[in-house]
Amino acid sequence: MGLQPKNVLITGANRGLGLELVKQFLRLPSPPKTLLATCRSPENAKDLNDIAAKHSNVKVMKLDVAQHTSFENFPKLVESFIEGEGLNLLINNADVTKPADIGECTTRLSGYLVKEGLNLLINNAGIANKKQYLGNLEKQSLIEQFDVNIFGPILLSQALLPYIKQAAISSTDTSLNCNRAAIVNMSSILASIAENQNGGLYPYRTSKAALNMLTKNMNLDLKSEGILCFCIHPGWVQTDMGGPNAAVTKDKSIAGILDVMSKMNGETSDIFVDYNGKSLPW
Ligand code: NDP
Repeated sequence: MGLQPKNVLITGANRGLGLELVKQFLRLPSPPKTLLATCRSPENAKDLNDIAAKHSNVKVMKLDVAQHTSFENFPKLVESFIEGEGLNLLINNADVTKPADIGECTTRLSGYLVKEGLNLLINNAGIANKKQYLGNLEKQSLIEQFDVNIFGPILLSQALLPYIKQAAISSTDTSLNCNRAAIVNMSSILASIAENQNGGLYPYRTSKAALNMLTKNMNLDLKSEGILCFCIHPGWVQTDMGGPNAAVTKDKSIAGILDVMSKMNGETSDIFVDYNGKSLPW
């Protein structure tokens, strides 16, 4: 049937992978009827606004996922766009991590990339970001990343759950898939406990590992309500976060992610996958 969710909401849609998701959703044979592209500063989101000017199904909405109190009124705004139809797909994509937080090369040195054959020998992990190692860790950095990477996705999923349930109930389809009702969380291989061979990156690793646990919990709790939940590692991608030397283009990463979304169903227990659909160890 292919990927064709009717109503979709993406966080952090003004640049990077979020913006690329918007672009590629619009290129699907059956693009969403309503694509709620959220970002924290719509007034500065030129690329996204340009797209919205050409596609009336794209609605640019203000949403700072770290401002959890705004989740009280936000669902009413969502409802005004989806008009009683429910929200088929929520993609928790926003992330406040900066390249300096990840470190110039720690990502490149992760076991995952080495396994992929990227044998980068520039071992500057030690200087990657002193703040991200236990002795230099700042509480503020932890708070910022937990606010965006885990508290945001938990509380936003909770706030929008009635609309996601509505989409599941009103569908004639009884299986679990991204067309009917789903929550997809953008995770990272750096969240994998099994794959952690370098340490460091406390705010990022711990907040994304918590996101993985959230995903697993929601997967177990919501499947009986017809809602599919899984998390995805987009690869090491050329975005502001991934940097220009990253291994994968945005185009390739998101094309892979949409393909995974089109195939993911309730029959697999592998719900932590990469953009090629490969199962990743928790
Ligand atoms: P970018 O840094 O390029 O983009 C991050 C996006 O999140 C921006 O749109 C940014 O908006 C938004 N954002 C940040 N804070 C908030 C907030 N408080 N509220 C709403 N939006 C916010 O990241 P990527 O596109 O590379 O990453 C997308 C996802 O993929 C993330 O979850 C990331 O962890 C994951 N990922 C990426 C990898 C990579 O190599 N790129 C590797 C593994 C995982 P603003 O412009 O306002 O700052």
